[in-house]
Amino acid sequence: MTPFERALRERIAADGPITVEAYMEACNTFYYATRDPLGAAGDFTTAPEISQMFGEMVGAALADCWARARKPVTAVYAELGPGRGTLASDALRVLRSAGFDGDVHLVETSPRLREVQAAAVPGAIWHDAIEELPDVPLLLVANEFFDALPIRQFVDGGERRVTVAAGGLAFDRDGEIVELSPARGEAAEVLARELANNGGVAIVIDYGHVKFANGDTLQAVRGHKFAPILANPGEQDLTSHVDFDALAKAADVAKVTALAKQGEWLKRLGIHARAEALAKANPDKLDEVRVALHRLTAPDQMGDLFKVMAIHSPDWPAPAGFA
Ligand code: SAH
Repeated sequence: MTPFERALRERIAADGPITVEAYMEACNTFYYATRDPLGAAGDFTTAPEISQMFGEMVGAALADCWARARKPVTAVYAELGPGRGTLASDALRVLRSAGFDGDVHLVETSPRLREVQAAAVPGAIWHDAIEELPDVPLLLVANEFFDALPIRQFVDGGERRVTVAAGGLAFDRDGEIVELSPARGEAAEVLARELANNGGVAIVIDYGHVKFANGDTLQAVRGHKFAPILANPGEQDLTSHVDFDALAKAADVAKVTALAKQGEWLKRLGIHARAEALAKANPDKLDEVRVALHRLTAPDQMGDLFKVMAIHSPDWPAPAGFA
């Protein structure tokens, strides 16, 4: 048993069963603090790690929005949960070539990942929370950030908890599950308030559903495979589907765009033209580019499951790519 699991069991023995929210929060904090989980050698792969085209499309959407807002010089690039810094580095290349000269602010709690990000994005400035971002217009992106924030689960009106049973960790009840995430709602609300007060735009990309529905969406991923949620606490990525309807409601002090499917959004922004140019400039990478394009956009790959939503200041235009 790992020292982390032992400490978790001792906590439950001392204080009683902990909520799914407390379990998810404790496990993910430990998990991200102690490793770089991304890529083939890690536990999971994200869109920016599949191809530079993803970050470039995000950068193009932000650059266009910034230009239509008359290029405020005080604006900064910001990102929530930047992983390896790959998305930031690809998006910034496009933003810089469009004349954007602002600072880079990253909201990241993991010391281990901050180190990886420092190598990818020289000169970045880190923060522990969204409210610590500077009071200036934000060109912000959050890819697979909200899905890692903890959720609460309810069964028949009672909160679902994790307890210690004979065979190891166990849920205290099963049945039809309803999920709620105060942590995600609060993050969306704080972000929307910053945008409404200071200007700017946020692009939020995550896997999830349009309309709230009952059901258990909590999942654990380890070594690119689904794993039992309670099996290896702190050694696997815990996420759940993002309820975009709830995020939009929590962000209502700012403006919220319609939800787009990732595949359609990337196509509207011109990913096909970008793929063609990339393949032409690197003929040896033709297959690689083709495979990446398919993974990012095809409906049976990431194209339909992943959704994109933007939150923007009422004084700023909506970003492109939303129908
Ligand atoms: N956006 C990246 C990484 C996604 S993984 C990509 O697309 O590749 C989730 C990221 O969110 C990691 O960087 C993790 O350390 C960070 N994270 C998780 N919970 C967080 C929290 N509460 N505050 C800030 N960052 C968090």
